[in-house]
Amino acid sequence: MATAPSKLGRRDVLRGLAGTLLLSVTPVGLAATSASVVAVRVWPANAYTRVTIESSAPLTFKQFSLKDPDRLVVDLEGIDLNNELQSLAGKVGDNDPYIKLLRAARNKPGVVRLVLDLKAAVKPQIFTLDPIAEYKHRLVIDLYPAVQTDELLAFLNDNSQLKMDVVPPAVPAEKTASQASNVKPAEAKASDPNKKPTENKPTETVDRSKLKVDRLITVVLDPGHGGEDPGAVGPGGNHEKAVVLQIAKRLRDLLQSEPNFRVVMTRDADFFVPLGVRVRKARAVQADLFVSIHADAFVRPDANGSSVFALSEGGASSTAARWLAQTQNDADLIGGVKVKGGEDLRKTLLDLTTTATINDSLKLGKAMLGELGSINRLHKPNVEQASFAVLKAPDIPSILVETAFISNPDEERKLIDDDYQQKMAQALFKGIKRYFAKNPPLARTRIAQNP
Ligand SMILES: [Zn+2]
Repeated sequence: MATAPSKLGRRDVLRGLAGTLLLSVTPVGLAATSASVVAVRVWPANAYTRVTIESSAPLTFKQFSLKDPDRLVVDLEGIDLNNELQSLAGKVGDNDPYIKLLRAARNKPGVVRLVLDLKAAVKPQIFTLDPIAEYKHRLVIDLYPAVQTDELLAFLNDNSQLKMDVVPPAVPAEKTASQASNVKPAEAKASDPNKKPTENKPTETVDRSKLKVDRLITVVLDPGHGGEDPGAVGPGGNHEKAVVLQIAKRLRDLLQSEPNFRVVMTRDADFFVPLGVRVRKARAVQADLFVSIHADAFVRPDANGSSVFALSEGGASSTAARWLAQTQNDADLIGGVKVKGGEDLRKTLLDLTTTATINDSLKLGKAMLGELGSINRLHKPNVEQASFAVLKAPDIPSILVETAFISNPDEERKLIDDDYQQKMAQALFKGIKRYFAKNPPLARTRIAQNP
């Protein structure tokens, strides 16, 4: 990859003439620039571990995997082993979910070999990033589990209880009742044993204002980006990851000053959290709401304003389509019960979960836009819909707020201003309260959690 064929040819000739002595002083190829490693980082997380090697010039690499035991080998070309690179081994924690041991050693002149002893089979993704902000050239090694999960897909696959709830015939009445009391009204209705599940339409069936329940409301705040990923960078050099964390902390403080709110942050400092982990954290604490906070960027510096996103039906249905395809061959077995018309039933099941949640997300988004409009121009007047991975918790109303354009010099100045950050947090706070005033939280609606 790094060596041009003509060079290789010449080097082979030289090697033939002079043997290893000459080889040791021959550059590895055109890419053998004087790159040196300036920093190394390891970001472990459940969904994947990221290893970053930052260097003064772009690195080229070759990779291969070995089995029994699982190892990943990455040869870094055009570089020599230095202290920084050697420190990488010590940065892998015992609790890293994927890496057991990492070794860096000089393989041949200008080539450093990284050997990663793995705890499980992984699907590595290795790529380079161009310099941004204070970061120089980076080579990123992401170790994903060999079987990658989509949160919605995982939910549908794991959710045997929900599957049982929409399969009335073979389920004992007592069990059905106890489960029905445990799920959202839309799903509970589907479990009515006198109804054929396929008759149910995915519409709101309960007047929530009559269901006021006094309990703690859990709001998950998700400051975008973090760690290795600065997000958008403003013309003044300010990082999206920093301003959204500051706004999220202000919003957290406002919510926690109320007696009935509990706040969980997907990150409360400058570290990297994969998208899937953000969603999983929200589901693990049975969040009532998920609010992802970002700052927008566009090539045109005059782009400005706030916007709010909810998951698109398309985003949900593309996952749904994969799930349907995957379960197609399961002989219509859902939750271990054989049902007729399995296709329709599965579609209904998906509509019930995703449509109800998207409806709630749109209501939340609308309440948010109403408040944001009083402190900033709205980039778009309505809640937009897109297939953001971070919005894919199938059972938690989720929105993504683009607070303002950090690429716009005026809005960048505002975003780093204490008073404006507080105003922004206030607007988000009021939006959340406005949403719950109209849509009081239901009785605890635990459906299913990933372990
Ligand atoms: Zn962002």
